[in-house]
Amino acid sequence: MDFTKLIKKEIVKISAKDYAPETCPFCSSDEIIIRTSYKRSIPELGNIDTRRIIELHVATFKCEKCECKYTPQHTDYPKKYEYSRRIIQTALSLHFKKNFSGNKIAAHLAEYFSVQIPPKTIYSWINALTEEFMKSEFEAEPEKALEAYKALTIDGTGFSLGNQLLGKKNDVQLSSAVKLSNGIYLLTWWE
Ligand SMILES: [Zn+2]
Repeated sequence: MDFTKLIKKEIVKISAKDYAPETCPFCSSDEIIIRTSYKRSIPELGNIDTRRIIELHVATFKCEKCECKYTPQHTDYPKKYEYSRRIIQTALSLHFKKNFSGNKIAAHLAEYFSVQIPPKTIYSWINALTEEFMKSEFEAEPEKALEAYKALTIDGTGFSLGNQLLGKKNDVQLSSAVKLSNGIYLLTWWE
């Protein structure tokens, strides 16, 4: 078996028409035209030897009947984020389920999914998206997510996040807990 690793680049093009509604969202007319458009290049999860880039066509449509303008959003490529929803979800899952640090997540994504992400970007997702991630992950039983968070303890050498999310026992230089809402606390630490 030859394990020589040659990373190949794969570009996947997505046209605005692939994800835009077929009719005007305001009046349901099908007399819609593209007024302006541009392309976004977004890293997507690849695999061990494939670097995948999405070339997303983003278009502003105009309805010729009611004259409304609108720009449909692709749910997998949220407009305020430089990376795909799958990448962000994988990073958060590795953090909350496997207890990986931002640095370890960056190394893991580079190794197995051929995605390069600065660790500070991953920390910013953890800060901004914890609540939404927890809610989605525990959609059927949201109170369980809250319980997992309420069980957070800091014991000086490490912490635990309840029985769903096992903590680590490394030395922690500095940590902070911030109350978000609904009793959810966000714990950030530096090692
Ligand atoms: Zn319309």
